[in-house]
Amino acid sequence: MSYISIAIDGPSGAGKSTIAKAAAKRLGYIYLDTGALYRAVGLYMLRQGIDIADQLSVGNALGGIEIELKFKGGRQRVILCGSDVSEAIRDNKVSKAASDVSAYASVREFLFSLQRDFAENTNVVMDGRDIGTSILPQAQVKIFLTASDQARAKRRYKELVRKGQQVEYDDILEEMRQRDKNDMTRSASPLKQAEDAILIDTTENDLEQSIEVVMQLIKRKLNL
Ligand code: C5P
Repeated sequence: MSYISIAIDGPSGAGKSTIAKAAAKRLGYIYLDTGALYRAVGLYMLRQGIDIADQLSVGNALGGIEIELKFKGGRQRVILCGSDVSEAIRDNKVSKAASDVSAYASVREFLFSLQRDFAENTNVVMDGRDIGTSILPQAQVKIFLTASDQARAKRRYKELVRKGQQVEYDDILEEMRQRDKNDMTRSASPLKQAEDAILIDTTENDLEQSIEVVMQLIKRKLNL
């Protein structure tokens, strides 16, 4: 039996995870947040005191990592070497570490099968940076979700403040631009729109409107 895959790519703060989660729920599919996997690798390196700028050390350390994904009530939990790090990986320091390690081909290769195998066993909505281009090039629906830098930074700022983190909007905007630049200019699977992906710009839309636009598109593509 072949399963349906929906790939949602785009820069951070475009609303990918919230929209992908909502779409998966409405469709009865599993939502897989692939950024969480890169975050788990970044967190592991930080915890082990590994110099993230040193590609060789990061590559050598990958052998010690065990990542397991669990789904409880539709919510993805990330288990790193036996402990649940689902909250710890959301820290702002981990965002930067994830972006840095994600540029290494060894890290991308390490996480490749985990993502690819997942889609072979279930209907999935997967979000990330290279799902439509590299992980699931055969996905039946590909969406590239974006929004202006300022709109994305404002959303991320509000999200972090809501979680009780002390952050400045200007720092978030700057970090986001840096992360976008890293993601778009790396040679290993850079962030880019797949040729057959549909571009959706959420700058002017609130969340509900964006979910509606995405759902209409999915239904049209899948003849639902
Ligand atoms: O999506 P999220 O912001 O949680 O991802 C964290 C980082 O992981 C991104 O900045 C990006 O560098 C990296 N990433 C990636 N490929 C993916 C998902 C995330 O390179 N498929």
